[in-house]
Amino acid sequence: MLKQDAHLHTPFCPHGSLDPFHSYIEKAIKKGFDSITFTEHAPLPPSFQDPTPEQDSAMKLQDLEAYITKLAQLKQEYKGQLIVKTGLEVDFIKEYEEETRTFLDCYGPELDDAILSVHFLPAGDDYICLDFDEHAFQQLISIYGSIEQVYQSYYDQIHSSILSSLGQYKPKRIGHITLVQKFKQLFPYEMSPELCQKVTLCLEETAKKGMSLDFNTSGLRKTYARSIYLDQWMIDLAKKKKIPLIFGSDAHQAEDLGYAYDQFEDIMRFR
Ligand SMILES: [Zn+2]
Ligand SMILES: [Zn+2]
Repeated sequence: MLKQDAHLHTPFCPHGSLDPFHSYIEKAIKKGFDSITFTEHAPLPPSFQDPTPEQDSAMKLQDLEAYITKLAQLKQEYKGQLIVKTGLEVDFIKEYEEETRTFLDCYGPELDDAILSVHFLPAGDDYICLDFDEHAFQQLISIYGSIEQVYQSYYDQIHSSILSSLGQYKPKRIGHITLVQKFKQLFPYEMSPELCQKVTLCLEETAKKGMSLDFNTSGLRKTYARSIYLDQWMIDLAKKKKIPLIFGSDAHQAEDLGYAYDQFEDIMRFR
């Protein structure tokens, strides 16, 4: 099996570190990786208002060309040593599918790989970034009325993202499908049978569409998550349905590249 880390952020991330590309790459080589994909947060739809205080959820459209050019250079520079792929983590945002599709039609041809993620949930007339911090999550609970309802909304969005028509360059991998659990130590919640059914449906659709799942280890580094962003039963079901699980550290600093890869190996070994 090719050793890859397919979810990495970069110095182009406005909320990440300024660690240069080379530090990520050197780290990958040192840790014995064959391939890495940089998946910076794609520019948000032009008419979408980033709800975070610093409006720093994603890279700006004016930086995208530089990002793509830089990666093209790095691919050449490390040829024979490490496969470097150009990717993006694209947001699925309800009501903004059209703009997202237009974006993908334009930049998709430049990409080797991409992830489709849900970070923003509709909340009243606005949106809230569900993984921003515990206060944002609390706000979601207040608006939706219960933790259960927040989860329902999250999985409705995940479901829509899988079924969405985003054109021929639609990302093939669904990002961190339990991101809604990021603050679960503060807001404990056991998924209801109804919700589990919804997640099961999501996985069935993922399989049908020939898509894959982000095996995202960043939750292990988060104080209130302390877990991979996949429940064990989801991993089991994904394996049963032959959905590829793709390792991603979701590193926002070079230090975290390949984070907890051994856990991924252990889980994949017993398939
Ligand atoms: Zn990020
Ligand atoms: Zn993400």
